[in-house]
Amino acid sequence: MSGRVVVVTGGTRGIGAASAEAFKQLGYRVAVTYLANEQMSQQFTGRTGIPAFQCDASKLDACVQGVKKIVEALGGPVDILVNNAGVTRDAMLHKMTPEQWNEVIQTNLTSCFNMSSVVMTSMRERGFGRVINIGSINGQTGQLGQTAYAAAKAGMHGFTLALAREGAAKGITANLIAPGYIETDMVKAVPPEELVKIRARIPVGRFGRAEEIARAVTFLASDRAGFITGSTLTVNGGQHMF
Ligand code: NDP
Repeated sequence: MSGRVVVVTGGTRGIGAASAEAFKQLGYRVAVTYLANEQMSQQFTGRTGIPAFQCDASKLDACVQGVKKIVEALGGPVDILVNNAGVTRDAMLHKMTPEQWNEVIQTNLTSCFNMSSVVMTSMRERGFGRVINIGSINGQTGQLGQTAYAAAKAGMHGFTLALAREGAAKGITANLIAPGYIETDMVKAVPPEELVKIRARIPVGRFGRAEEIARAVTFLASDRAGFITGSTLTVNGGQHMF
């Protein structure tokens, strides 16, 4: 609904940026967060007019402060939270460092606790909320070098189910979107020869576009999706069907 307040974590690039822009076009009040890339943040805000706040989603204190600033800037409590911030730090398990493991788990999974817990009391009091978590096909299938990432994304699935049960009687839905391979900076980091092999396994014959995930995000946020909760929406060009 027009005017609702949306926060998209990791929204200055890729899927998060496309989602924030789609919300703005639909008349929502939107803010995004980012980790450290100031240049990208300034470019994003300059291009879209959407405010961006530096806020490390892996740190609870930062999320408390970040949400406070966003609520002040947008003039109302958060109605819709998109937990999109994520990183990959690929390494085979026998070579993975504790630092890599922790960074991936904290950025992808702990961030969902951090951001959701900060906005949840207000959503429950107001009897409305939407939490949309961006998982991954690789949390459904596993992937070489991604024990941490797959564990975090599969963890987001369980988190979503439990939160959906907790929120159901309070007008709060929680859903997970599991994208396949989407043309963003994250996928550009994959070696080209690997990308050729991956594309060959996608039945529609191409990678996805960030805007295609954004449309799923805005749908799950809408009033029309009020009966959808605890679901996983796969958007992957048919790469993984079940
Ligand atoms: P990008 O790498 O393009 O962008 C990542 C965004 O997240 C940036 O805005 C970045 O900020 C921000 N970010 C990273 N760490 C943090 C943090 N600790 N706190 C706040 N913001 C942070 O990512 P994508 O758009 O490709 O991916 C978005 C989500 O979709 C991720 O969760 C990813 O796992 C998931 N996904 C992506 C797929 C793909 O093919 N691209 C496939 C399946 C899932 P900064 O610019 O400052 O670094």
